[in-house]
Amino acid sequence: MAEQHEPIRVLVWSEFSEPREVYPNGIHGEIAGYLNTLDGITARSAQLSDPEQGLSAGALADAEVLVWFGHRHHGDVSDEAVERIVKRVTEEGMGFVPLHSSHMSRPLCALMGTDGMIGAWREADEWQKVMVKAPDHPVAAGIEDFVIPHDEMYAEPFNIKEPDTVVFYSHFEGGEEFRSGCAWTFGKGRVFYFQPGHETQPVFQQAEVRQVIVNAVRWCAKRT
Ligand code: ZN
Repeated sequence: MAEQHEPIRVLVWSEFSEPREVYPNGIHGEIAGYLNTLDGITARSAQLSDPEQGLSAGALADAEVLVWFGHRHHGDVSDEAVERIVKRVTEEGMGFVPLHSSHMSRPLCALMGTDGMIGAWREADEWQKVMVKAPDHPVAAGIEDFVIPHDEMYAEPFNIKEPDTVVFYSHFEGGEEFRSGCAWTFGKGRVFYFQPGHETQPVFQQAEVRQVIVNAVRWCAKRT
């Protein structure tokens, strides 16, 4: 494990199907760019179209935390990449932060042993209120309940392995509810799933959402 004073090495990956009008550099570019403005974190971005899908053994070995955005192309991620990610997490302690539609990403489902299905969803640019359910958890540091003005609705039941901690819980404009921030430990590695972030809205530019991702990176890297 890296020394505590060294920057956390983060690999931010996207399948890059998100609209260029909202995210010219992709969600991976957006998040990596923001992380690189911070002290104590150094981030690279990678995408599905890269050699070895951006998920070579070397790239993963160099990553202390893998942040992930997938939506339309979960099934295109190779068996080899999924196996490498699961091994890096469970046996070697790499952190993993799947975002939004990555609830059905192959690496997360392989770790959980479930299909990650959700009860319902609705793309209607409705608000969601993100409630802090575990204020003492490091991923909630500095976060109070907040509203995302326009996002996609997800509803329970959420077919996941029971989280060690539900850090955030969301209420949606239509009355639905969802476990929107879930923390697990799988073997040696920490995993944090965060629901906000439908790709047609600039959710990943919102200050609270950025802070949650930073907190998740630090927690998954075992720095908090
Ligand atoms: Zn979405």
